[in-house]
Amino acid sequence: MTSAPPVITRFAPSPTGHLHIGGARTALFCWAYARRMGGHFTLRIEDTDQARSSDESARGIMEDLAWLGIEWDEGPTHVYNGRTIGGDPRNVGPFFQARRVHLYNQYLRKLVEIGRAYPAFESSEELEAKRKIAVAAKQTYRYDRAAYHAIPTPAERLKRMDSGEPHVLRFLAPSHELIVPDQVLGDIKIPAGELDDFVIRKADGFPTYHFAVVVDDETMGITHVMRAQEHLYNTPRHVALQQALSFRTPAYAHMPLIFNMDASKMSKRDKAKVARLTLKNAIQKDASLTPAALATKLSIEEPAVADFLAAENDRLDIAEAVARVFKINLPEIEVADFRQAGYLPEAITNFISLLGWSPGVKSADGKDLERFDIGFLSQNFAIERIGKTNAKFDRVKLASFDAQLIAEMSDAELVKRLKTWCAEFRPEVTRKLSDDQLTMLAAALKPRCKVLSDIVNVASFALVGDNDYTFDPAAVAKVLKAAPKEGQPSALTILTDMKSGLESLEDFSPAAIDALIHSYAESKALKMGDVAQPLRIAITGSTVSPPLGVTLAVLGKPSTLARLSRGIAQC
Ligand code: GLU
Repeated sequence: MTSAPPVITRFAPSPTGHLHIGGARTALFCWAYARRMGGHFTLRIEDTDQARSSDESARGIMEDLAWLGIEWDEGPTHVYNGRTIGGDPRNVGPFFQARRVHLYNQYLRKLVEIGRAYPAFESSEELEAKRKIAVAAKQTYRYDRAAYHAIPTPAERLKRMDSGEPHVLRFLAPSHELIVPDQVLGDIKIPAGELDDFVIRKADGFPTYHFAVVVDDETMGITHVMRAQEHLYNTPRHVALQQALSFRTPAYAHMPLIFNMDASKMSKRDKAKVARLTLKNAIQKDASLTPAALATKLSIEEPAVADFLAAENDRLDIAEAVARVFKINLPEIEVADFRQAGYLPEAITNFISLLGWSPGVKSADGKDLERFDIGFLSQNFAIERIGKTNAKFDRVKLASFDAQLIAEMSDAELVKRLKTWCAEFRPEVTRKLSDDQLTMLAAALKPRCKVLSDIVNVASFALVGDNDYTFDPAAVAKVLKAAPKEGQPSALTILTDMKSGLESLEDFSPAAIDALIHSYAESKALKMGDVAQPLRIAITGSTVSPPLGVTLAVLGKPSTLARLSRGIAQC
């Protein structure tokens, strides 16, 4: 009896940008399935498009995968938190396609030898002219096999190929029906004659995606190809190539696409869409915002801004400039965006697990189990539970997952996460605030934060010097300078009394400070808010801050007293 080969899955990103959240979902499912089946998860970098690929982007993708906890058993090596991920235990590398060109060339040659591939020498102008004729005749253009017929034998084709004349290689598509067996969508039949003679090696000598993917899935022993449904129409080409090369056909599972809540497809362009809308609204409100004025404000050339407004371009640098100048948040699309916004990796992996998959398990309250960790996923992931219908990206749900994780986290763990996040995105925070200060903030704020950056944003009062924060004039007028209510002390009296009370307070902890404010309010028959609000404005300049005891304790006694003096001077 032979046992089934071990499951080997792969994630095969093209390093042309950051890791898209949809790519992270693909990687997570491939990883989880390999784990569940006791198999292997491979990372392969598909960099045959030399003009668009970069090593920097490959590194960024690996970094984001490692951050999410999606670790590959084999693939390029990457050091994360001092540990090396990847390697080549089965000796099937290298894992960058650009380093496998010799291998593709062997198989390409074989296809030419057996008459299933041929060189084509037409220039792009000639092909374009043929395409135009087809379009004018209202016919679908497909390559007419002229080059195949022009050189009748494999031996002559090889000779011409080796002569150094620029050419592409085309696949001689099969004329029979093809069946793509898909574990999610069932068998997909492609009628005979549907496929064209697509290019398998470009004029630059690099294979096309279709060819490289087929050779790699075979030579790396990939048993299960799980990828998004957008690749579904590529798969017949892959199956046809596998048959021509006498390769296995791996099991396919195409996963549902990810859509925004408004049913548009989630894509990088969403950032430009939001920025464009912001600009349009701003222009409507303010007629002085001409394209020229906007160009100056955004530091972007005017024609590009005009094109951006007319949706002629979706330039990310323009969208980012709009976000900066108009103080808006662009929608997070890539893992790096979510990371920068302060999401926890566990919230993201939990949330994306549910994009087109569900465990089919009830939780204690009888509802569908939705909250689980990556360990649960790796023990329960099943291809049969991948859905067929489009998944919706519900940002509110993601934020609530993140908020719950933050709320449940120990103070020590939260501070650790906060420090790691700050070190990367807000280094001034860890320079200014000690561990004690961060712990007080984290403990007080964790029940009400969605993402790590919320804690930092609320802590902004502690990041400015005692003489540098500005007073909100409306708050000063309404609270500090206002005439006291009948029989009540003025803000000046309250602040002066509190200053002397705080000065003699030995234990400057949040609880002791709160107790002092409380007993002072009681002794004067005041509500807590009557004392807290002037205090808050005096020491932060604004009406918003974390709970007062924490705010003062984070500042410490000397700063609090110095700030109180500034507040008193405003009364
Ligand atoms: N390199 C392809 C991409 O990034 C993935 C191909 C595949 O999974 O087969 O879209």
